[in-house]
Amino acid sequence: MTETRMGEVRKYTAEIGEEDFGREVTLYGWVHEVRDLGGIVFVILRDREGFAQITLPKKVVNPDVFKKARKVRRESVIKVRGQVKAEEKAPNGYEIIPSSFEVINEADAPLPLDVAEKVPAELDTRLDHRYLDLRKPKIQGIFRIRHIITKSFRDFLTDEGFIEVATPKIVSTATEGGTELFPLSYFEKEAFLNQSPQLYKQVLMASGLEKVFEIGPIFRAEEHNTIRHLNEATSVDIEASFMDHNGVMDVLEKMVVKAYENVVDKGERYLEWVGASIEVPETPFPRITYDEALQILKRKGEEIPWGEDLPTPALRVLGEELGGFYFIVDWPTESKPFYAMPYEEEPEISKSFDLMHGWLELASGAQRIHLFSELVKSIESKGLSSESFGFYLEAFRYGMPPHAGWGLGMERFVMSMLGLSNIREAVIFPRDRQRLVP
Ligand code: ATP
Ligand code: MG
Repeated sequence: MTETRMGEVRKYTAEIGEEDFGREVTLYGWVHEVRDLGGIVFVILRDREGFAQITLPKKVVNPDVFKKARKVRRESVIKVRGQVKAEEKAPNGYEIIPSSFEVINEADAPLPLDVAEKVPAELDTRLDHRYLDLRKPKIQGIFRIRHIITKSFRDFLTDEGFIEVATPKIVSTATEGGTELFPLSYFEKEAFLNQSPQLYKQVLMASGLEKVFEIGPIFRAEEHNTIRHLNEATSVDIEASFMDHNGVMDVLEKMVVKAYENVVDKGERYLEWVGASIEVPETPFPRITYDEALQILKRKGEEIPWGEDLPTPALRVLGEELGGFYFIVDWPTESKPFYAMPYEEEPEISKSFDLMHGWLELASGAQRIHLFSELVKSIESKGLSSESFGFYLEAFRYGMPPHAGWGLGMERFVMSMLGLSNIREAVIFPRDRQRLVP
């Protein structure tokens, strides 16, 4: 229930219950549907919480109100005031007999997209008119759940002692080499959009903040068009001092479980809107090594040369074999970025991991190299120039603690939780190779 500035008590459709029967309420919303049966008109009002049936028997309601309601175009913004009556066949078990019916802003016709979905539309058309697409409960539900997840991540990490930070998105150097960057002009210099907060969150370990997190945009100039890549995504990143890769995997696993619990707990109706059903995953998540993954793949007829990243078809096979959540740990050092720490006794493999859900990679992380000379060696061994990492490297010379961290893709997480078929469904205004508008 909300007080509007007009001083009236406004209710959402889903807030009206038996206690309101016989009383007058005010609803604001959009015209979802108008059914004109001559002697009686039904208007379905939709607000962000659901639907209400506005019933207008010609003989009962004011003729002016009847005329307005009968003529109103779909998706117009309306304000309705009227008496609540029990009606079993209507949504939520009630109907409103209006004493006033105000068309606040009439919508044009025809609509560029049918919100009531009598005519289904392609993803591209939906995204072109995303503001209308979002009026559908099944689409809005995705973002109501994404909100629950974001809040859950933030609350969980805060409770674990992490401090939320914001690092620059306009940067002068690449995080891991220069291939996936968007260049931009920064006065007389060249700059880039940051592909990850990696370098900055590591520098903050030298500041003594010990545990930091950031939920922010990452930009990647991925040329290919896939169902799991965006050019602008949201990354949930943590970095923690005096923790190793196993420690931050524990944090990640707990954060995932907590998010599922919160969605089950607070998002039941949105899951229903979306048509998804979820189960809180069991812990601990299996941790299989990269070598074990190769063996499973070999048994299934997929030979991957040691040292290589796992291509999508291989991940599909693994996903089918293992299902659910699992970690792939101990990746070849050559397949991971320069900051991943190699095992001392076996430097060809690194203290690194990916969190998977089925075939989909959700997060990557590692314990990091914290010794200056080791880090310089590692940078050079990847064919990068340590000179371009000036501000980053300096932080390793004056007291850098051991640390570890990970980055998790928010859209991938939403996509896999809700079983969405395309990552674009998990972001309101996606950026991909073709799409820069809206
Ligand atoms: P992939 O191999 O699946 O392209 P990646 O290994 O290049 O991902 P990382 O650099 O490990 O990605 O980034 C950490 C996480 O950020 C990924 O596990 C993923 O969830 C998310 N992420 C990375 N790139 C993208 C992208 N282009 N679109 C959406 N999410 C992304
Ligand atoms: Mg990765």
